[in-house]
Amino acid sequence: MIDTHCHLNDSQFDNDIDEVINRFFLSGGNAMICVGADLSSSLKAKMVADLNDNIYYTIGIHPDDCDTFDLNEFEDLILTKSDKLVAIGEIGLDYYHNKTNKAKQIEVFSNQINLAIKYNLPIVIHCRDAYADLLEVLKKYSPLKIGAVMHCYSGSLEFANELLKLGVKISFTGTVTYKNAVKVKEVAKNIPLDSFFFETDAPYLAPEPNRGKRNEPKYVFDTAKYVADLRGIDAKELIRITDANAKKFFNIDFI
Ligand SMILES: [Zn+2]
Repeated sequence: MIDTHCHLNDSQFDNDIDEVINRFFLSGGNAMICVGADLSSSLKAKMVADLNDNIYYTIGIHPDDCDTFDLNEFEDLILTKSDKLVAIGEIGLDYYHNKTNKAKQIEVFSNQINLAIKYNLPIVIHCRDAYADLLEVLKKYSPLKIGAVMHCYSGSLEFANELLKLGVKISFTGTVTYKNAVKVKEVAKNIPLDSFFFETDAPYLAPEPNRGKRNEPKYVFDTAKYVADLRGIDAKELIRITDANAKKFFNIDFI
């Protein structure tokens, strides 16, 4: 199985990253995508991917860091990529953390989408409390020439359908297993099988029964099993389908 979004580059893994990676593969994991969120974590994601088989990486400047965005510096990160780079992200809009710089966030998000289109890479989107503006930006690019996924989906079924219409995929974290996540469960139960895949967002958001602990990639199985139960289908079959979705989306190939 693939953990399509984790932060092995987070300092919470500095002391035991090799053990964390081993535990994932020993649990039956096949591949992980290590995600960047600013310049230094993007460089670290590349390092982690280049040092390990079946670990891929993304680079991106998160909206929380949009004030430090430098177009040339970011394009250099793409130009010096290794063959393990699979996407631009996480990028997007976050008005929960900061609603005073909306225009800047939209500008930096759009700049990174333009580069993703230029280099033909899919994008991994982060969005919090900014759904209307996010749709507006995405609609400007419609029909989008590259893949896009809404990471850690936490919105309504109605909004999910708006995204699906624009060709955006949905990615679920452990939050779907949380008791109060009623809306997300509804989405996970109802959207088409070819429209989503799974991630951990480790070290954050561990699924039940490990909620509150440090999350790690091997827990991605718990999220997949939970959604399989929600949909009343076999977990192995669901993982086969969502892994195929993720492989196609990120253009990665492995057994
Ligand atoms: Zn993340």
